[in-house]
This record gives sequence, structure tokens and C-alpha cells, in this order.
Amino acid sequence: MPLDIYPHLPEGLLDLPADRLVEQLAGPTLIHIDGATEPELFVSVLLHGNETSGWEGLRRYLRDHPFPLRSLSVFIANVHAAADRQRVLPGQQDFNRIWRNANGAGAELADALLGAIADRDYFASIDLHNNTGHNPFYAVVTDLDATNLGLAYEFSDKAVYVREPDTTLTNAFSGRCPAVAVELGPVGDPRCDDRAYDYIKRCVALDVIPEADSDRLNLYESLARVHVADEAVFAFTGGEESAPFMLTGGVEAVNFHDLKAGTPFGSSQLPLSDLLRVLNTDHQDVTGEYFLKEGTEIVLRRDIVPAMYTTDPFVVRQDCLCYFMSRMQL
Ligand SMILES: [Zn+2]
Repeated sequence: MPLDIYPHLPEGLLDLPADRLVEQLAGPTLIHIDGATEPELFVSVLLHGNETSGWEGLRRYLRDHPFPLRSLSVFIANVHAAADRQRVLPGQQDFNRIWRNANGAGAELADALLGAIADRDYFASIDLHNNTGHNPFYAVVTDLDATNLGLAYEFSDKAVYVREPDTTLTNAFSGRCPAVAVELGPVGDPRCDDRAYDYIKRCVALDVIPEADSDRLNLYESLARVHVADEAVFAFTGGEESAPFMLTGGVEAVNFHDLKAGTPFGSSQLPLSDLLRVLNTDHQDVTGEYFLKEGTEIVLRRDIVPAMYTTDPFVVRQDCLCYFMSRMQL
């Protein structure tokens, strides 16, 4: 079976940190927990195995509230990657990219979970993640329904509307119940665990999802993903190394701030096409819409808001350098 299902919380599970869940769980697990009200709140953690704040916040919440105000369905996803403190194990599919049109083991898991919950009603769904780099707390919505924005606003005054990829677990709840993914900040920071705890507690206590305050909710639309070209040798200014492509590392500190056209982004003698690749939501190369080379300087061609800019070379190679967003008006 690709999914284990428990009608109540297995004894002792809350004593285990994320990297020891494999001692009790054979794999992805769905657990129903009775509370004072229905319908249930769906809470998912560890879709990415190294992103532990969701589980840390949840297990502390359940220790403090063994009979919560609302029943819960808890999905503990990639326990094997969690045991290795990896986002995903080599050869595994990304557990947050399997919820539509997947194949192989990912499709089996998606079918098993979505089948197991098909006949249940949900109050809302919250998917808990960490990220890298210096980012504020923000929620991700996959459609702009008012209840999604309200659920996002319960977490933070910043939300990002993401259309691609459309294979996330949050997408799978679209049209079924209010659903968000939340980004709790960097792994290992105890404030992120606290934030997860607080958000779960807040969601469980809601009778209805209040509308977001449209004057105070900062809503962004994700436009493009910025990659460093595979062949480019890069380093960040302000660091100790130098390389043929120097990136302005200070951008990390301005995630979610408005950057104007003309803002320096990096420098190199090489042509832009050897350095950066910007892909829009249709995976088209739109580098020239976003960057301009002025001598050796690479500058922004248009106003944008960066998110998830990272100075971790491993993440730059594995995932991307950053996302570009624009502000949306409600
Ligand atoms: Zn994640």
C-alpha cells in the first residue's frame, strides 16, 4: 500500500522528531484525529522531507490539545526523505508535484490519498513548508477565491498567487475547500516552528474563514523563475570568492521588496545568454524581457518583486536563483 491510514493518532508518534518518524511509520500516512467540531481541517506536513517546521508545530499543538476544537486529517508525507533530512530522496518524485497527471509511484500515492479522502468534507486545507533564503512569512494560493485569500491572510499579510506548477497538493483541493500552502521560513529556526503552531491553532479555532482585509493584504503574482545558466561559473558579491559571473548577493535581503527597472543584478564580461535564463509560467525563455546588459553590468529591464532569492549555490543549481513577481490589486 502506498498510503497507511490510521483512525486515530498512533501512540508515541508525537514523541518523534521528523527524522525519526520512520521508526513508527512505514511511509506516507493519513491520520484522523477527533475534535469538537466537523468538518475536518486537513493539515499536510513533510511533502518535502527536510522542511520540518510543520511537523514540529503540529506535534507540539497536538500534545497541548489532545482533543482539538476541530477534527483533523493529518497527512505526513515523505517520511523517508525526512529520515535523511532531504527534500526528496534520489530517484523519488517531488511529493509536491504529483497531484495531477503524475505517473509511477507518485501517481499511486496521489490516487491513494485523494481516494481515501474523496467522501470526506473539509473545512480547509493547509500545507506547511519551509524555504531557503531570507523571506518574510507568506502563503501561496492557487486560485483567487475569497476564502483562499482569507485563509492566506490568517497566516500573513503577504500572499503569492502561483499558477505553475499546477501539480501541488494545494491545487488538488482547489474548488473543494479553501486551501493554502504556507512558507514558514528557513528550516531549523525555532520561530518557524512557533509560527506553524500558531497557524494551526488559529485555523482550528475558526468557525468561518474571515475575509482578507484587501487594503492590508499584499498580493503578488508569480511571473517567472530565474535560473543561472548551467555552464555559468558564478559567485555572489560580498562573499570571498570571485567568478566570471558575479551576482549582487544583497538581493536576498530585498525579497518581497519592489525593485525598479535599472536595478543592478550582476556583472560579467560574458553575454547575457551565457549567464541567466528566465522562464515564464509556460516555460518559455523570456530572459530579454527582464534583463538588460549595459557594458559589463546586468540590470533589470522592468520593475519586479523578487522572492526566494537564495545565495546557497546548491539551491541555485537544484532549483533556481529566485522568482520574479508583480503586485496584484484585488
Ligand atoms: Zn516545500
